[in-house]
Amino acid sequence: MTRILLLGGTSEASALARALAERGTPALFSYAGRTESPVPQPLPMRVGGFGGVAGLIETLRAGGFSHVIDATHPFAAQMSRHAIAACAATGVPLCAFERPEWVPGAGDRWSRVTGIAAAAAALPEAPARVFLAIGKQHLAEFAGAPQHHYLLRLVDPPAEALPLPDAEAVIARGPFTVEGDTALLRDHAITHVVAKNAGGSGAAAKLAAARALGLPVVMIDRPALPPRLLRGSVEAVLDWLDHGASGAKRGV
Ligand code: NAP
Repeated sequence: MTRILLLGGTSEASALARALAERGTPALFSYAGRTESPVPQPLPMRVGGFGGVAGLIETLRAGGFSHVIDATHPFAAQMSRHAIAACAATGVPLCAFERPEWVPGAGDRWSRVTGIAAAAAALPEAPARVFLAIGKQHLAEFAGAPQHHYLLRLVDPPAEALPLPDAEAVIARGPFTVEGDTALLRDHAITHVVAKNAGGSGAAAKLAAARALGLPVVMIDRPALPPRLLRGSVEAVLDWLDHGASGAKRGV
């Protein structure tokens, strides 16, 4: 019997949830629980970690899951690695949805770095005004560059003091517009943008805004993952479900 475990956290995961619900396919939607009020889904939902690979294996077995769809954020690499390992151990077919990366275009001033620490190191020595568009989990890695003013954009108001001496947060949930992000960068006199290469349209506005204002962008490359079955659109993931777990793996 078909029963899907859908690992969510992206707008495409929500689109997959809608499609599965419309088709009446039994499925459970899983959130990491990174935001206080996650977007409601038209599927049964669970929130929070599984307890590592062992916990995910137990969940797959106890829940009678026939397929796993990994539609997590491209930087949620630990979850994706755990899904690869647990599906290999249980023989449950896995398909990952992956958005195309953003690529620089004419007028973009990007420097590409690997990892958060490298992004902090790529900022100038002199005090700058930095739009730090990386969520809340890794802000402390910028504490070694306290001379900068940091503008953060967070989904929820911070529950504790920010780990940066000179920082302010705007609270907002995407998708964002180029007009809005251009005004945000201009109003805060931003001189540098730091972003994760998430891809997709919902968070791309800041890049167009940086281009319009001629600002440099420090772009953090995606973490590398082991080979896995990949599809690049919601339709292609549904097609995989309909036509079996075969297809090309990344890197082969
Ligand atoms: P992660 O580092 O890959 O995952 C850490 C742990 O969180 C996993 O090992 C797992 O716990 C749990 N987890 C993650 N996604 C889950 C899901 N969909 N369902 C159940 N448990 C899940 O991912 P992360 O901590 O969420 O985020 C890593 C990076 O991705 C951050 O830089 C963050 O800003 C970015 N990001 C994440 C999301 C999101 O929705 N998760 C959205 C936007 C950006 P167990 O090992 O206990 O199973």
